[in-house]
Parts: sequence; structure tokens; C-alpha cells
Amino acid sequence: MRSSFLPFSKPAISEQEIEAVAEVLRSGWITTGPRTAEFEEAFREYCDAKGAVALCSATAGMHLLLVAMGIGPGDEVITPSMTWVSTVNLIVLAGATPVLADIDRDTLMVSAKTIEPLITDHTRLIVPVHFAGATVDMEPLRQLASAKGIHLVEDAAHAAGTEYHGQKIGRRGTAIFSFHPIKNITCGEGGMFCSDDPTLIERVRRLKFHGLGMDAYDRTMQGRSPQAEVLEPGFKYNLTDMAAVLGLSQLSRLDKFIEKRALLARRYQELLSGVDEIRPLAMPSYPMRHAWHLFVVRLDTKRAGMDRETFMAELKKRNIGTGIHFKAVHTQKYYHETLHLHEGAMLNTEWNSDRICSLPLFPDMKIEDVNDVVDAIKDVLASIK
Ligand SMILES: *Cc1c(COP(=O)(O)O)cnc(C)c1O
Repeated sequence: MRSSFLPFSKPAISEQEIEAVAEVLRSGWITTGPRTAEFEEAFREYCDAKGAVALCSATAGMHLLLVAMGIGPGDEVITPSMTWVSTVNLIVLAGATPVLADIDRDTLMVSAKTIEPLITDHTRLIVPVHFAGATVDMEPLRQLASAKGIHLVEDAAHAAGTEYHGQKIGRRGTAIFSFHPIKNITCGEGGMFCSDDPTLIERVRRLKFHGLGMDAYDRTMQGRSPQAEVLEPGFKYNLTDMAAVLGLSQLSRLDKFIEKRALLARRYQELLSGVDEIRPLAMPSYPMRHAWHLFVVRLDTKRAGMDRETFMAELKKRNIGTGIHFKAVHTQKYYHETLHLHEGAMLNTEWNSDRICSLPLFPDMKIEDVNDVVDAIKDVLASIK
């Protein structure tokens, strides 16, 4: 058994990054400023996006999007139940109605086929989720959304560095990225709003900082313009330069991170191919570059003779950390009580929600750590028999 605990995720922070943050702290300008502007430009260039706005989280980006699109009472927004709760919370807080979509059983993603039957005259927006570093099949969804005149915005929290048909997520349409510590790159907390719609970018840029027509930092003023005026009531969702300088460095390492994650994931796939009780996710068949944000497996609870909670607890006893991404939104207390979705409403989502488990995957992991995880899994499964 491992002598030290292996967490399921851990940010890869270098000494140079710590020094870069310290330098910002010493510089006299620590909130939104030149580093944030640089980070926006670097991320925009990395994705080949038209515009990018740095924010304090992806959740903030989703909030500003709903405000900018004027989504509210009477409007329906379609998104999967297999997602992080933030999107659905914001839809409800906006007074709109979340319409939850089922997913493919083996990729955990929505498709034009699962979305289309949910569209009504009230549908204003579709929010597909790129899952675990893989990408949704966007082309059929784009065609569907444009044929119906509905907005389409990608939840790209897992998809920094992901490519679809040779193009980065963020290059086309509108995509919202997260830099929370477990994501592929981090700046503590942070997000990036990318869009090819300049009007939307300008609106989000304004809304993120009190509705002033400019950022906290005005490059020509070397500070905040004293003349800044409120053009509309806005929020306070800007990213700090302390965070942005970390994001900048992390972005320069993203491709290396993904290479390492892919190497570890391949090792998992090899070692787990002979373990009948464990089913990794399937790879979509369309051309993509997987960013390997998570390595998600499903426990075949019948074969294993134990539930997922026991499995995770037994792994923890063997010093292996795991996570759940995600417990389906419609099974959580508030949504269970308010959405009135009967059990069996989303068969693939529910099947996975009870069986998924994210195994340790982060850039500083060693290939031997993967061996340890798989050994521990085999040991747990054998202990029951
Ligand atoms: C992490 C995550 C978010 C939220 O990102 P924050 O930056 O924490 O606000 C949204 N959607 C999905 C699918 C996520 O995994």
C-alpha cells in the first residue's frame, strides 16, 4: 500500500510562479491591471478567439452571459443535468426555467439528438458542457441552434486546450473557461469569457466592472480614469493581477500539462482494460484533441458487489483520493424538490451519477502513481470476493 496520500487533483505551481505573484505584490498594483490585460491577450491568442475577458470565475461569466442576453422569467435554458450546479443555479436565480438534458451513456455529453426534443417556443439558450477535456460534437448542435434561432454557449470549464476538428474550443462561438484549482490551468480562482461576437464581449467587459465603460485599469492612465462613468448597473467580477500573472505562466505550460495528462490517461486505459468492474469513458469518434481534465471511470456496481461510496471509501483507506464529477443536478435536494423530475427521467444521467468516480490525474503525478491507483482498485475489488 502507498505510504502517502495521493489526492485526485493538485495544482502544478512552480517556484517561478510563486515569485511572479510575489513580484506583483511588490509592484504597487495588485488588482486588475497590466497582467490581466496580458493574460486576456495571451489566452485569446492561444484559442485564436476574437475576444476574451478575464473574470473572477466561470460562474461569473455565466451570470454575465445571462444578464447580457436578457434571459429571465418565461425563458427556458437547456443544459445537461450532468454538470456542475453553478449553471443551473444561475438560470434559476435569473428567474428562467432550466430544462435538463440527458447525455450519452459513455461520453457523458449532450448531442443535437438529446437536445432537439427539449426545444420549445420558449427556448432561448443551449449550454452544452465539454466533459472531462473531451468536446461535444458541436457542428450538429450549431446547425440545430442556428436553424431554431437559439443562442448556443459552451461551458468550457474542462476544455482549456481542447480542440474540435483541429480548432481550439473558444475559437468559434462563445465559450466560458474556468481556472479553479482543479481545472487544467489555474490562477486560484478565475475564468475567461471568449466570444466571436464583439458586441457581447464589450457588454461582458462593461458588466464585469460596475457597468463602467472601461476596466479597473486604464492603460493610458496607468490607473483608473477618474472620469469613468456608469453606463449601466454592473457587477464586480474582475480578475486581479495577482491571479492573472499566475494564469499567464500556467497558460504557457498548458500544452505540456496536457501531454503529461494524456500520458497518464493512456496508462490508466492500458492497466484498466483488464479490470471488468471498471468502465472508463468512451472516446468520441469525431476529430478532437482531448485535454484530459479528468479521468472518469464508472464502477459496475453489480459485478463489483459494492456501491460507489464503498468503493471510494475503500480507496481512501488505501491512500487514494477520488472525486465525483458530478452528482446529477436533478438528484440534488433543491432540484429534486422543485423540478419534479421523476426517477428514470434521465436514464443515462442517473446511471452514471450513481457510478462515476474521478481517479487521480494531475501533471505532477508519476506514472508509478497510476500503477498504485490501479493496484489499489484491484485490491479493493478482490477484498469483496
Ligand atoms: C468548475 C466548473 C464550473 C464553474 O467554474 P468556476 O470557475 O468554479 O466558477 C462550471 N461548469 C463546470 C462543468 C465546471 O466543472
